[in-house]
Amino acid sequence: MYLCDVHTHSLVSPDSKAPLAAMAEAAVSAGLKELCVTDHCDLLGWDGRPAGAFDWAAAREQYRAARAAFDGRLILRLGLELGSAPFDPEAARAVLAGGGDELDFVLGSLHNWIGDEGNIDLYFSKFAGDEALCRKAMDNGLSRTWELVTRYPDCYDSLAHVSYPLRYIRRDGMDLPLSDYEEPLRAIFTEVAKTGHALEVNTSRGQDMADWPLLLRWFRECGGELVTVGSDAHGPQDAAKGVPEALGLIRAAGFEHITTFEKRKPVTHRL
Ligand SMILES: [Zn+2]
Ligand SMILES: [Zn+2]
Repeated sequence: MYLCDVHTHSLVSPDSKAPLAAMAEAAVSAGLKELCVTDHCDLLGWDGRPAGAFDWAAAREQYRAARAAFDGRLILRLGLELGSAPFDPEAARAVLAGGGDELDFVLGSLHNWIGDEGNIDLYFSKFAGDEALCRKAMDNGLSRTWELVTRYPDCYDSLAHVSYPLRYIRRDGMDLPLSDYEEPLRAIFTEVAKTGHALEVNTSRGQDMADWPLLLRWFRECGGELVTVGSDAHGPQDAAKGVPEALGLIRAAGFEHITTFEKRKPVTHRL
């Protein structure tokens, strides 16, 4: 089994304090063969204001140092978690261009409402007792995801945490059945597959495993072949959390390979 974690954060992300070297050390201890650091660049701030600067100099500096230090012990890749690309695709493309040819991998994600609720981070929405808001969040997330995969496919390699609003809906004691969203999810998955992109299994530090068997089945039925896996760790204690279980789920869903990216090109490894 090719143990890899291609969704992790370091101190280049505003919500992490972990040096990349500490993440890499934890990855080696967890038995990983490959680690990709995917620090945040979100085109919307948590308060819904436009953002989008990314400190490529800092990211490159620690990446190059860690890559040299871990040479022969761990394959390290330089990625980016690019949030809210449909909000400002031109800014998204400018950020990606800043990565140059050292950039291996781009996760496309959405953490904010776009075009509703003041574009705030879903973290700040209060879903308790408000099913209409829950449904609005899922509709907003899936329609923006549709926009990403159909109009801005150059702005991502793997589609990150596709059911993200459910994370906060459930945090607030609510839930929605995934089956209510089968149609839009299948449309998204068909597009992801058709354009040669990947779907991410995001374990959310090993806490979110339940939805993946169904999502993976739909993705496969829609022609999907490329799947990436990530813990979404923001500190060394969470590196690789849930990854072995996720690889088991991916295999059980009928996939024969796990995918990583190098210079934005997929590399498949037998499961
Ligand atoms: Zn994310
Ligand atoms: Zn993340």
